[in-house]
Amino acid sequence: MGRKKYKFNPNTLNYERVGISVKERIVKILTYLSSSLAFALVIVVIFLNTYEPPRAKVLKRENQRLITQYELMEKDLDRVENVLTELQQRDDNIYRVIFEADPIPSSIREGGFGGSNKYSQLESLSNSDLIISTARKLDVIAKEAYIQSKSYDEVIEMALNKEKMLASIPAIQPVSNKDLKRTASGWGYRIHPIYKVRKFHYGMDFSAPIGTPIYATGDGKVEEVTGSSRSRVGFGLEIKIDHDFGYETLYGHLSAFNVKKGQSVKRGDIIGYVGNTGGSTAPHLHYEVHKNNKAVNPTYYYYKDLTPDEFDEMVEISSNIGQTLD
Ligand SMILES: [Zn+2]
Repeated sequence: MGRKKYKFNPNTLNYERVGISVKERIVKILTYLSSSLAFALVIVVIFLNTYEPPRAKVLKRENQRLITQYELMEKDLDRVENVLTELQQRDDNIYRVIFEADPIPSSIREGGFGGSNKYSQLESLSNSDLIISTARKLDVIAKEAYIQSKSYDEVIEMALNKEKMLASIPAIQPVSNKDLKRTASGWGYRIHPIYKVRKFHYGMDFSAPIGTPIYATGDGKVEEVTGSSRSRVGFGLEIKIDHDFGYETLYGHLSAFNVKKGQSVKRGDIIGYVGNTGGSTAPHLHYEVHKNNKAVNPTYYYYKDLTPDEFDEMVEISSNIGQTLD
């Protein structure tokens, strides 16, 4: 307990206590301390909320840079994708067309890859959308590039085979028909000469005297030599040639054969002679061209010996006649 101090007050003529009590002093000190502490706390909280340590700043900047790089990469990938699309279109519409190969179906070109969970491990990352979409784009491009390279391999193979292919594709008329007078009936719906009903005619008829030579229209192997000369239905005496590359030709209603089954033939070789066997109303040759086991219009396969004008003329003649010789 300290001593109490008193001082005389001339106005009141009293001794009055000077200073404050210890208790008051303690209270005052405590008040001061607690308000300082509160103030310090406020400062610390503000500091913690606004201050970033230099390392965090660096990381944040780096992160931002990575995002920017990812976005740029996405744009680059889009450009690569466009170039690839261009290559694919040129491949399908030019290179493969030259060799008469079917375009690669888009289901294969854009086919799926991997499981659906492929990117799940990326999902936990921040910015996962950007990262996953970039990863996916990259995968698609890699797959498409792979398929494109396979296609080029095929095209190279076809180019090496081109000479053989050009010799094999049926490309001339099966009988000598320079003035086209032997063109009788073509591809399409016709009145059947025997049944008198509208029927699709899957080939082309050339009317010619019995014994007129029939030529192999492309290089190949004799696949079938069949039929009977007494038969009054079907193609009578008939020859089928396998030309490879998906092509086959059929020659019907013959009077005689000049080849045996399994024999190799060259374009222009005489394989048989025109006749009137099978379901035929007059001596003629029924000729079919098959591509990948489907009959196709033979009119488009005479490019070795028809000029464009002659082609028009042949189309005209063969489509004007409403009845086949079958
Ligand atoms: Zn016919």
